Amino acid sequence: MNVNEYVVVDHVEKAYQLLNQDKKNQIIAGGAWLKLSVKEVNKLISLDHLSLNYIKEEKDFIEIGAMTSLRDLEMNSVVNDLDHGLLSLAISKIMGVTIRNLASIGGSIMGKFSFSDILPVLLVMDCKLYFHHRGEMNIEDFMNTRGLERDVLTHIKIKKQNRKSFFKRVAHTALDFSMINIAIVYDDSFMISVGSQPGMAMLCKETMSYLNETSEVTEEVIKEAVIIALNELNLSSNLRASQSYREVLVKTYLKRGIRQVIE
Ligand SMILES: Cc1cc2nc3c(=O)[nH]c(=O)nc-3n(C[C@H](O)[C@H](O)[C@H](O)COP(=O)(O)OP(=O)(O)OC[C@H]3O[C@@H](n4cnc5c(N)ncnc54)[C@H](O)[C@@H]3O)c2cc1C
Repeated sequence: MNVNEYVVVDHVEKAYQLLNQDKKNQIIAGGAWLKLSVKEVNKLISLDHLSLNYIKEEKDFIEIGAMTSLRDLEMNSVVNDLDHGLLSLAISKIMGVTIRNLASIGGSIMGKFSFSDILPVLLVMDCKLYFHHRGEMNIEDFMNTRGLERDVLTHIKIKKQNRKSFFKRVAHTALDFSMINIAIVYDDSFMISVGSQPGMAMLCKETMSYLNETSEVTEEVIKEAVIIALNELNLSSNLRASQSYREVLVKTYLKRGIRQVIE
């Protein structure tokens, strides 16, 4: 990556202004992905001096600064208590500790990576994003909206809940991107998302409605839920897996996940 100027800002407004001054100005968080994906940068804007590396527990939610590393989240006891450790589990499956020490939650969200193991989990966890200029935004709206104005993500909030949960990622090797990943939470109702389709993660809304309107989740109901999910997902092929293999994976792990959370 060729960088003209490295700027360490001392106020978030400065970062926002610089970001919108020139398309070639970029924010750097952990830099793990940026260094691999962007060749030419005019001003590289560091958020290191903005005190955005924190995990704060409040009564009903936890607040996480955008610069918090994945490893800090994985090891944090409060985060571990959210939905039976769902987020910590998903993070623990990403690469090795070295990358997780570097990569931040902000970069993991702002990258909108289609292979992300974190976005499907945040989708089922009642997560809100907070931008310097745009203010609060629901994570699903953020993921579904294209062409958003460039903005600085300062922190996220996750509602404190401890629902039963399931997470599965399937990859060729432990260090490869997922061929598919599935996140489920269940208390009184189901939240289900699937990522690495290979397109971006999405909530399975029709499947969730079907399951949530059913009085008893029997094996027949689970079979029908899988059919609905396969219809509403956008599974397709890429170099990691064919569409038909992804369909088999969704069938297998969606059934397994639903059974696990209702046990
Ligand atoms: C080799 C490798 C393998 C990986 N494998 C996986 C995997 O299997 N599963 C998985 O889920 N993830 C994987 N990741 C992604 C990783 O977990 C991080 O999500 C990624 O590195 C981005 O985090 P970062 O802090 O490095 O962000 P950076 O690389 O610094 O930034 C990423 C993007 O976000 C923008 N950005 C960062 N912070 C902010 C902010 N606060 N406000 C506005 N914009 C911002 C940057 O400008 C840039 O466009 C992998 C990454 C690498 C390098």
